[in-house]
Amino acid sequence: MLLDQYHRRFTYLRLSLTESCNFRCNYCLPNGSDCQNRAAELTADEVVALVKGFALAGTRKIRLTGGEPTLRKDLCDIISRVKSVDGIEKVAMTTNGYRLKRDIGDWLAAGLDAINVSVDSLDPATFHLVTGQDRLQDILSGIDLALELGCRQVKLNTVLLKQYNGQALNQFLNFVKNRAISLRFIELMQTGDNQSFFNKQHQSGASIQAQLLALGWTQLPKLADAGPALEYSHPDYHGTIGLIMPYSKDFCNSCNRLRVSSLGDLYLCLFASEHRNLRHLLTGNNPAEIAEFVQKQLLDKPIAHSLQQAQTGLTKQLAMIGG
Ligand code: SAM
Ligand code: SF4
Repeated sequence: MLLDQYHRRFTYLRLSLTESCNFRCNYCLPNGSDCQNRAAELTADEVVALVKGFALAGTRKIRLTGGEPTLRKDLCDIISRVKSVDGIEKVAMTTNGYRLKRDIGDWLAAGLDAINVSVDSLDPATFHLVTGQDRLQDILSGIDLALELGCRQVKLNTVLLKQYNGQALNQFLNFVKNRAISLRFIELMQTGDNQSFFNKQHQSGASIQAQLLALGWTQLPKLADAGPALEYSHPDYHGTIGLIMPYSKDFCNSCNRLRVSSLGDLYLCLFASEHRNLRHLLTGNNPAEIAEFVQKQLLDKPIAHSLQQAQTGLTKQLAMIGG
């Protein structure tokens, strides 16, 4: 079991498959992706070796992310091979939804258990303004198709942006009224590249929290192994609302995740000021060596990030490591 010096248990790995992306979200890659690293991305064999090492160390859940993970041509192969690693119970993926409608059937057949789709606005024009893509309807039909096909867990990620969706709570609530999905508002985080955008657009999740409570939503009890999201339900709604508030006090206390980039760099925190490469361990078919390496590094994990002090570490934008 991976443990840090503050007794936190790490059973969840977020694994980036590429830094590249075909969207240009204004908070992440406003000028689009200029990724030069595609040829150096971890191969499917390396991904499987990495996951075997983490599984041996007690990791039970893998999230495939990016950049945009669905740009990987070998995605289905990766999903099915990761799913069949001993000890891995859940394979999830975070996507911008570009390929959702076309490929969700194949991803589910390959063994995908859960999907998070980023939807920052339910208004087509605003969605276009935020992401640079005029595809909202197509993505929403992909979400409904995922539900129809029996995807066990569908979540929407919505980054809270003062000007673009800060006043749109009712629209989002209507969306989850008859859909069994969890919609999560994520507070915008400052990164190395987005300082002035952050200063203009950051809105605290507490504003949404207060509205939810006033409308009769109640907070669900946290499961023992749950991450930092707070989840709310309402008897008149099929879906739930989640809040991820990285600037709130004690946010890091329930941290249960580690990150590896598409180049094989281990990040102990999203906002770490250094990373440690483990690619050299991925050729030897020696999961125990990987498990031992990760456990040793983990002892250096700080108790919390320093985002409140605007210390964003190495992270220029979250497409680098997957958010
Ligand atoms: N491209 C995929 C997507 O957008 O879902 C996966 C990668 S993206 C980096 C993962 C998540 O991080 C998305 O939900 C995205 O909205 C979120 N994100 C990106 N930059 C962020 C920021 N500065 N603050 C908060 N969330 C951010
Ligand atoms: Fe691409 Fe996701 Fe970043 Fe948007 S948030 S630019 S979809 S990596």
